[in-house]
Amino acid sequence: MSTWLEAFAGVEALEGAELDAALVAQMQAGAVGELGRVNFYTPTFKAYATSEISGCGKSAWPAISITGGDCKLQCDHCKAKILEPMIPARTADELWRVANEQIAAGAQGMLLTGGSNHRNEVEYGPYYSTIRRIKDSFPEFRIALHTALVSADIARRMEDAGIDAAMMDVIGAQETITQVYHLKRTVEDFERSLEHLVATQMHVVPHIVLGLHYGRFLGEDSALEIVARHLPAALVLVVVMPFYAPQKRPYVTPDSHEVGRFFLRARQALPGLPLLLGCARPPGRAKQEIDSYAVMAGLNGLAHPADGVVELAARLMRDVRVTPACCSIAVGDEVMALNADQAGLEVDVGRIIEMERRRAAGRFAGIPVVTAGGASGCH
Ligand code: SF4
Repeated sequence: MSTWLEAFAGVEALEGAELDAALVAQMQAGAVGELGRVNFYTPTFKAYATSEISGCGKSAWPAISITGGDCKLQCDHCKAKILEPMIPARTADELWRVANEQIAAGAQGMLLTGGSNHRNEVEYGPYYSTIRRIKDSFPEFRIALHTALVSADIARRMEDAGIDAAMMDVIGAQETITQVYHLKRTVEDFERSLEHLVATQMHVVPHIVLGLHYGRFLGEDSALEIVARHLPAALVLVVVMPFYAPQKRPYVTPDSHEVGRFFLRARQALPGLPLLLGCARPPGRAKQEIDSYAVMAGLNGLAHPADGVVELAARLMRDVRVTPACCSIAVGDEVMALNADQAGLEVDVGRIIEMERRRAAGRFAGIPVVTAGGASGCH
């Protein structure tokens, strides 16, 4: 049997990317038997959509901000820019109207979020009765809430309002909380919030932002320990994309091999938990390397994979599934991942690889696709 490094080297669309051979060997040695299913969340393979998921697209998961583009925290990596493209709903009445409009337009769910106050809380108080009304009127409509930090009481109010999925960033280093978030809260506050959320019936999907401390690893392993102590429904990993970093505190691009090592540690620490790579990560070669490591480490899902990564997954004998989801702001994929067992379509891997190759380099178009033996069992 060929090594995984050889399999990786055989993927033309990943040309130029380089992996740490020792790390790849460690991942291969650690993968007992087959790695199992991997689901790719991507708009690219829309041709594979069936009626079951035909409504899936950007408008299927609109993101709505209760503060519009306002946020008191102005974290160094974000400066509230993430909120800017969202649909504003600054009052409860507006939320009701926007939700109805979106549902009429075919939305299946929404991400509800907003800017933080100075304590990293989003002030949803005036909205809970409207959220309840939306859920009572449209029970099938899924609502994922970016919770930020919560007390036990607030977590229960979210649950009572009918929230389906609760998402929060878990930060494991006090320096990051103080310097990046400009926040007078503690790591324990983040852990307690997660604990309060997990105590409810909501599907809790925390995120760990890798490289959050100016592109360097600092509190990620502590955050992983926190998640392991409270076992949520799934964990989403993203890699920081600091487009808005202040000049006096610039970000470096996180080292992709370090990211790969963290993937392996996360997989080992949380063997039974759906582990997903969200949309955000640096582009280009770093993304090719990061995505390759994600497939090799055994992550269960990847949003917007780099070209060539589906082929790599097939060559590593993973059971490849595709969910043709647009998630320009990384939303619906987390929620869909809650049903990871049912997630995704079985697809013709050969056709997908051919599409990938065509996109990656026109010159490869028409070259017959060769997949690893068992992978062609997907159809
Ligand atoms: S609290 Fe959230 S929205 Fe506000 S600046 Fe920080 S990361 Fe961005």
